[in-house]
Amino acid sequence: MNDPLQAQLPRRDLPILVGGEWRRGRGHAYQSLYPADLSVSAELHAASAEDANEAVESAQHAFATTDWARRRPHERARVLYRIAEGIRARREELAQWQRRDNGKPINETRALVDSAAGTFQYFGAACETLEDSLTPQRGEQITMSVHEPMGVVAAITPWNSPIASEAQKMAPALAAGNAVVVKPAEITPIAALELARICEEAGVPGGIISVLPGKGSVVGDVLVKHPLVRRVSFTGGTSTGRGIAHAAADKMMPVSLELGGKSPTMVFADCDIDHAVAGVLFGIFSSSGESCIAGSRLFVERSIQARFMERLVAATRQLRVGDPVSERTQMGPLVSSAHRDSIERYVARGLADGGRLVTGGARPEGEGRERGCYYLPTIIEGLANSSAIVQEEIFGPVLVVLPFDNEEDLLAQANDSVYALAAGIWTSDYKRAWRVARAVHAGTVWINTYKQFSISTPFGGWRDSGIGREKGRLGILEYMEQKSLYWGMNTAPLPWAA
Ligand code: NAD
Repeated sequence: MNDPLQAQLPRRDLPILVGGEWRRGRGHAYQSLYPADLSVSAELHAASAEDANEAVESAQHAFATTDWARRRPHERARVLYRIAEGIRARREELAQWQRRDNGKPINETRALVDSAAGTFQYFGAACETLEDSLTPQRGEQITMSVHEPMGVVAAITPWNSPIASEAQKMAPALAAGNAVVVKPAEITPIAALELARICEEAGVPGGIISVLPGKGSVVGDVLVKHPLVRRVSFTGGTSTGRGIAHAAADKMMPVSLELGGKSPTMVFADCDIDHAVAGVLFGIFSSSGESCIAGSRLFVERSIQARFMERLVAATRQLRVGDPVSERTQMGPLVSSAHRDSIERYVARGLADGGRLVTGGARPEGEGRERGCYYLPTIIEGLANSSAIVQEEIFGPVLVVLPFDNEEDLLAQANDSVYALAAGIWTSDYKRAWRVARAVHAGTVWINTYKQFSISTPFGGWRDSGIGREKGRLGILEYMEQKSLYWGMNTAPLPWAA
């Protein structure tokens, strides 16, 4: 299909935003490629370490000298509402650029744009309704707990959900009155830059936001270690997150880390099979499996395994893998050839470990898909829970299936993972759902549904899946320092000095 953005492609010399100035990055020149056919979406220069230092210093200057942090909450909220409206006004254009960024199908990128708008609206409301508290009086003082913005916040995001990931960090950080330096993944620079333009147009003062596409090991590293950066909010892989946690410890800096996952989906014999098949498919294969919360380990009660798998495999083979421009496409390409190579290595390893390929395991052919980074939805059975592809995050459209005999056996397997991000339960027995939901190790559990989100509900992982929570009303407090105030009400001098 023709690309609706064809007339604007490629974007040449795409400027980045450093300390209120749109200009060429001082790092290496590179091209951002469209994963569906490897055509060029944008040509730009990455941010350099020097740009990162400058962005942080400008952010600190803007934080200290503009009125952003001192505006009354309802005034900052008004700007966030305008950002939400600005995103909505450019919905289609943003969704199309986001599609070019990482090759997600257009229906999915539209939903991500809607989510970004909703996030700014929500944190506008959180900002204007956030209350400080008068704590119970225990002496001759009135005591209060209040919250202050932190200063410069670094927001580091991965390539799999640009705009939504950035909004999830920028909205609460800005609502709290901070300055934000955003570092999107190098390969998906466009959405974050477009979002920053909308923020500026909505009235965020110059310098409060910078956007620095570039290498994590260069730009990200400067941001994490810079003494003026007071908080890092990171979404990405666990090993990168672990490195950031070490650097944060040296600076005594709070961090939130949204990391990897290998989430179990658990299907009991008494489930509604239509619902469970649809939920399992969506859980693993939407976003081509490039999702931290992908339900990538499927546990099926042995008594229905054959029947369930027959339905699941038939439905998997029906999935429409193709052009992200098409409204009908369910799975687009993977983000890059290198990422597809890594997935292929995982599948080969799973088969070498004794896994049985049930479907997929290959690149699709025809309809021009040879030109892009496509991979078929893949299901592998017959592996032990301990094998590498059952334990490690693949971040692609690969589902491993394991049987279970009872709840105890199931929970032992499901919880035997370094990750604990999400889980899914399919059963008609609400008491069982309650027991399993409480016993499974995960930050989010979906019961008879999967991969549904609400900005009003906290999100985050346990163990190697992360530290801290995003979203929810209190998400704004992640970007504020708490402070206690004691107001002396004494009628006489303090007695000690008497
Ligand atoms: P990644 O860790 O390689 O990169 C994430 C971001 O960190 C990028 O912007 C990258 O440039 C930057 N970075 C890399 N090295 C850095 C360093 N040394 N210092 C500072 N920043 C650095 O991850 P990715 O491959 O872009 O994304 C995929 C991963 O993200 C998967 O593991 C996935 O599970 C995870 N993820 C988690 C969530 C969640 O909410 N838990 C959401 C989406 C993705």
